[in-house]
Amino acid sequence: MISIGIEGTAHTIGVGIVKKKGQKCKVLSNLIKIYRPEKGGIHPREAANHHANHVADLIKESAEEAGVSFDELDIVSFSQGPGLGPCLRTAATAARALSLSTKKPLMGVNHCVAHIEIGRGTIDNCKDPVLLYTSGANTQVIGFAEGKYRVFGETLDIGIGNCLDKFGREVGLEFPCGPKIEKLALDGKKYLDLPYTIKGMDIAFSGLLTAAIQYFKSGESLEDICYSIQETTFAALTEVTERAMAHIEKKEVLLGGGVASNMRLRDMVKTMAEERGASFFVPNRSVCIDNGAMIAWLGALMYESGVRMKVENSIIDQRFRTDMVDVTWRE
Ligand code: AMP
Ligand code: MG
Repeated sequence: MISIGIEGTAHTIGVGIVKKKGQKCKVLSNLIKIYRPEKGGIHPREAANHHANHVADLIKESAEEAGVSFDELDIVSFSQGPGLGPCLRTAATAARALSLSTKKPLMGVNHCVAHIEIGRGTIDNCKDPVLLYTSGANTQVIGFAEGKYRVFGETLDIGIGNCLDKFGREVGLEFPCGPKIEKLALDGKKYLDLPYTIKGMDIAFSGLLTAAIQYFKSGESLEDICYSIQETTFAALTEVTERAMAHIEKKEVLLGGGVASNMRLRDMVKTMAEERGASFFVPNRSVCIDNGAMIAWLGALMYESGVRMKVENSIIDQRFRTDMVDVTWRE
């Protein structure tokens, strides 16, 4: 079965084509274009305009690269939510148009669930992980329990990526700031005390963000602050992930989202996994960041398990929760 997927929840418009062979996912093509605001944060309308300008070309190029004609597609999948309304609508509109013009079935999918399924589909031995999903807007710890992907812990305010980007913007780093903070942190020597906020299984970052900006204003070294931000936020993420693994008795942990590129975060989660005798997985970068292949893959899983979607029921959902998805494709 061959599926094309269109991703458009936030700053990335992506189109990917995958082939489903049993439970394994073969990525045939996976192209993305990222909207980068000239200054400040992401403007939803401008991001959507960016996506609208690129999506048709990406669809064409993605099919060419995959060596697949539109005729050979079995379904057209798209990111139905959660995300920014204008961006979601742009991707959904492109998917509906492609579905109607090619007469291939349409499938809207949950973006967060796609991050976990692409790990299971592309990594050998990754079968039933807890996902630590760390992106710009989202921060969630997700695991499969009693028929659903459930959120065991999440941010109470901003996503971890957003926290890094906001701090970076305040101190004059260029977007995306996560990679720059990672580099600066390597030269950090002194740990500066920062709020470590875990409430139950949930995390909050805004107090830490304010305190970090205060340190910068009071003249502390940027390297030390970056180091301290990473140590504190990543420790909190690792702690919640470990508690979820213990609670639902999982022996695997999977990273997903843009912040999963960070080597210090990987190190901490890997160490935690090793100490528990669990396996640690990170998908290839191209399927770990926001991308169309993961959307295509989840669409294929859903379609094969019998899910159908009519165009008139394909409305986007900005607040599409992970645990609203009926997981029909696994036990
Ligand atoms: P996503 O929303 O999943 O596309 O991820 C984008 C976010 O990942 C942005 O907030 C980036 O700052 C962040 N990011 C990317 N690379 C790194 C890195 N190496 N370390 C920390 N954050 C990163
Ligand atoms: Mg994402």
